[in-house]
Amino acid sequence: MNMLDAAAAQAAYRDELVEAGLLIPTGVDGLYGRSGSFEEVVERFDALVTRWGGRDGAEVMRFPPALNRRYFEESEYLKSFPHLAGTIHSFAGDEKAHRSLLRRLEEGQDWTEDQVATDVVMTPAACYPVYPTVARRGPLPGEGRLIDVFSYCFRHEPSIDPARMQLFRMREYIRIGTADQVVEFRELWLERGRAMMASLEVPLEIDVANDPFFGRAGAMLSSSQREQKLKFELLIPITSSEKPTACLSFNYHQDHFGHLWDIRTADGGVAHTACVGFGMERVALALFRHHGFDIGQWPAPVRKLLWG
Ligand code: ATP
Ligand code: ZN
Ligand code: MG
Repeated sequence: MNMLDAAAAQAAYRDELVEAGLLIPTGVDGLYGRSGSFEEVVERFDALVTRWGGRDGAEVMRFPPALNRRYFEESEYLKSFPHLAGTIHSFAGDEKAHRSLLRRLEEGQDWTEDQVATDVVMTPAACYPVYPTVARRGPLPGEGRLIDVFSYCFRHEPSIDPARMQLFRMREYIRIGTADQVVEFRELWLERGRAMMASLEVPLEIDVANDPFFGRAGAMLSSSQREQKLKFELLIPITSSEKPTACLSFNYHQDHFGHLWDIRTADGGVAHTACVGFGMERVALALFRHHGFDIGQWPAPVRKLLWG
């Protein structure tokens, strides 16, 4: 399939989802409302993740979908993904500036001149607030830490692909500890993720992957990430079987975040981190794609798994 066909297939599938009422368009690519049954699937899948991961005793943390700007700056996100970041700006002018804002708005001109950066930035991945939070607590306990998060994430990647949203939800487990602890966690979830998604009777494959690092230096980071097998994705066909969509990802950051925030293990080493991320909208879309738009008609074993 060439690029044009792929784009046409994505647009056609988006139209189908909108027509079925599962996605509610807003006029912006990648920004959707969702129907009750779509949300029910997200909730049931979220509960399924908890059933598989909850026994490990993860500490639950829930953050709003925004980060302290200082954490964001420290994360070096702007080095790797400046094109995806969403910063929150707000009006900070005086009355004169306000009048000029209103005039420009009226005249259909750029009115954003007096918007200035606030202290908050949109969360790019659900695990970002966790590292500086854990760092602030001091050295890790011997067993390290395991954290459970769930957040809306923002990425400026508008697309007609219904599976590539600008605001979407990510559930994650994050392991912070020694290299051995963290690698073991990722191995465990690679197997669990496969078994969990297979139990939902969707076709899947797991493959090495890379993040979309920006620019020419980024191309090198991407290939080194692949060579070192730092990122795996669990892929399920949604709009194309040749180019299936990443629905879960399994990331080993080595000591990258440990270094950035000086997270220390119990014996004083720099902590390693890994996370497993579940793309909630993508998983829901994959289930609708393979089991149909009517959840009442889904295969009985899948219904039983999700609804009990
Ligand atoms: P892709 O390669 O498709 O851009 P990703 O590698 O950027 O995905 P991660 O950064 O690993 O994805 O994010 C974790 C999970 O969040 C992904 O496996 C996916 O399910 C989901 N996700 C990522 N980007 C989007 C998006 N734009 N819209 C919806 N879900 C997304
Ligand atoms: Zn993560
Ligand atoms: Mg991406």
